[in-house]
Amino acid sequence: MINLRFEELGLSAEIQKAVADLGFIESTPIQSQAIPIIMEGKDVLGMAQTGTGKTAAFGIPLLEKVDVLTKKTQALVLCPTRELAVQISEEFKKFSKYIPDLQITTIFGGDSYERQFRELKRNPQIVVGTPGRVIDHLQRQTLKVEHIQTVILDEADEMLNMGFREDIELVLQGMPAERQTLLFSATMSSDILSIAKTYQNHPVQVQIARKEVTASTIEQFYFPVRSEQKVEAMCRLIEFYNLQLMLVFCNTKAQVDELVDELQGRGIGAEGLHGDMKQSQRTMVMGRFKSSRVQVLVATDVAARGIDVSGVDAVFNYDVPQDPEYYVHRIGRTGRAGKLGMSFTFVSGRDRYRLMDIERFAKIKIKRGDIPDKQSIINKRKENLVTMVKQEALESGDLKQYDDVISRLIAENIEPRQVLAALFKLYMGDLGRNLSDIDFSQDERKRSTDSKYGEKDNKFGKDRFSKDKYNDRDSGGKYGREKERGFGDKDRERSSYKDKEKRPKMTRLFVSVGKRDRISHADIVGAFASKTGMRGRDIGEIDIMENFSFVEIPAHLAQEVVDVMHQNTIKGKKASVEISAK
Ligand code: ADP
Ligand code: MG
Repeated sequence: MINLRFEELGLSAEIQKAVADLGFIESTPIQSQAIPIIMEGKDVLGMAQTGTGKTAAFGIPLLEKVDVLTKKTQALVLCPTRELAVQISEEFKKFSKYIPDLQITTIFGGDSYERQFRELKRNPQIVVGTPGRVIDHLQRQTLKVEHIQTVILDEADEMLNMGFREDIELVLQGMPAERQTLLFSATMSSDILSIAKTYQNHPVQVQIARKEVTASTIEQFYFPVRSEQKVEAMCRLIEFYNLQLMLVFCNTKAQVDELVDELQGRGIGAEGLHGDMKQSQRTMVMGRFKSSRVQVLVATDVAARGIDVSGVDAVFNYDVPQDPEYYVHRIGRTGRAGKLGMSFTFVSGRDRYRLMDIERFAKIKIKRGDIPDKQSIINKRKENLVTMVKQEALESGDLKQYDDVISRLIAENIEPRQVLAALFKLYMGDLGRNLSDIDFSQDERKRSTDSKYGEKDNKFGKDRFSKDKYNDRDSGGKYGREKERGFGDKDRERSSYKDKEKRPKMTRLFVSVGKRDRISHADIVGAFASKTGMRGRDIGEIDIMENFSFVEIPAHLAQEVVDVMHQNTIKGKKASVEISAK
């Protein structure tokens, strides 16, 4: 099917103009197919991979439908994360740039109720939100449903993965029966079909075949590397390909934090994004990445889900994703808008089986790549230096100011070659700085005869290296020495977080101790873990206020935990612990 141009879609002049301002010319396949059907008022079940323009596919017809003269909430968009909610609203605002009087409100957990109450009171025509907070406002009746005519579920698969099924159903049950329901998802599943069957009215299925979209504009490589060599491998690839903006995916939050530390330690502008971070922090990090002030964004799948940043040169799969589906989502963040992107996947131990699953699933062939050797990086540095100096010599206007310095050095009988070399050394440091002596090709050969290592490597999920190993390397320590020392199983166990991202449904507890009691996150995690036997990592967000705190724990444990913790002590202080009222 040929993709329609936006003029051919029968849109209003206002929207056509806004879309043209965004530089969109042709609609994407999902847009071409879904927009006309949605505009007819039909329910749509839309399936297309990340990065295919689903937001506009439902957003444009929604904006055409909404009546700006009626100051009532007419549409609700549900999506899995706060980032996504904000992104969808922003995208809607761009499309509706020439539609005055349209109000869009975003509601999500972890954000002040005050703003949300205030904005909802004004009856915004469109509300975009995450399931938990939407239910909250429905129960408080601060979100009015009477005039809602359109309900959209975006990233439905991810909402289900995150355990929002009940919430989604609750929301849908609370909506007027007479409505248009649009369900969008990157993948199909029996759960999605069952939701569609129950809550949609004869939906038209619009499905864009995966292979049409597995971007041919992404060059995909994998590299067999040992866990503890991934950072070095990554840094070499960054330099070799001169990458400017990168997204790096890890499977756990702990790995995100650790990698960010490693990269920062090497002077790379890296920041992390994961679910444990405060909303304000996440927003800030995203802003810095979008404006390229942060070069490397390290994220977990869930935190990065749906996030759209243009100009990403490469996606690194620092860890092979647990689910083949995620691979496709991850790499879809690069190679957008016809630009070439690259994806690099680090494979260690049994990961290679997962890699085969991915290839089967996505019907692609991931090429094996080689990590550039130390000398190639040094050559690259030399090359860059020549380019930089040439450019500066030709283009910089105020070189004369150094004439005097040059004359003095020459007067002291220092050769011009020596002067230059000294300057380079001052500017660059050692040409081989930050490069270890790992020979990846050698290493691989050795490894393939040592399958035991590979298996062990994987059993514990994430490996980590302790900080002192790092320091060793910085001070010229060799990997050889590290090998001798071996990698303690303890080190591994400590970080064997598994699937931490797939959180169950969470409940917020009210805890009557706060800042004034000098309570820290660690105190709360410590008390909960030791007294209830739950694992620290099962505890979700902790918000410590002046006089009390909120602690998120898995909903199914809530009552039990309250029974144990209520009137128990936290940091020596007796606390009441209750399920926080909605
Ligand atoms: P999805 O929700 O399917 O992951 P998005 O809606 O986030 O995808 O769109 C991905 C990117 O493509 C966004 O930057 C969006 O602005 C851009 N985009 C969407 N539609 C078009 C189009 N028709 N032409 C050019 N770019 C588009
Ligand atoms: Mg999307």
